Amino acid sequence: MGCKACEIACVISHNDNQYLASADAFLPRIKVFNTPELRSAVTCRHCEDAPCASVCPTQALVRKDNSIQLLKDKCIGCKTCVLACPFGAMSMVAEPTNPASLARKCDLCIGRPKARRAWQPAQRKRSRW
Ligand code: SF4
Ligand code: SF4
Repeated sequence: MGCKACEIACVISHNDNQYLASADAFLPRIKVFNTPELRSAVTCRHCEDAPCASVCPTQALVRKDNSIQLLKDKCIGCKTCVLACPFGAMSMVAEPTNPASLARKCDLCIGRPKARRAWQPAQRKRSRW
């Protein structure tokens, strides 16, 4: 229904489960489109033969734990992955600590135990329905 709850959950999960201090930092890794013609949430599909990883000149995109993960330290901001992704799941973001735009993508919240804990009770509740 285009409510953007997923965008908010993503941003809070990547902010140590805290609300943001500023709207400028609202940079979700899932994007909700809500237009008269289209209503959909778009994020990385963690492709099996990932085009983004194939084209990255620095091997900054790697397969790990059944997902495609970005090694931020290796990204040079060339944007090739943005062009290669057929789903529009890659974005470029300038961070406060680094004004150069670097790639950003869904990481499936791997290594975020708090996010997983928040998700589990909802799953248990749903399984009782
Ligand atoms: S960023 Fe795009 S190409 Fe890369 S794994 Fe995700 S959906 Fe596939
Ligand atoms: S922007 Fe970064 S992750 Fe994307 S292709 Fe270039 S170096 Fe790789």
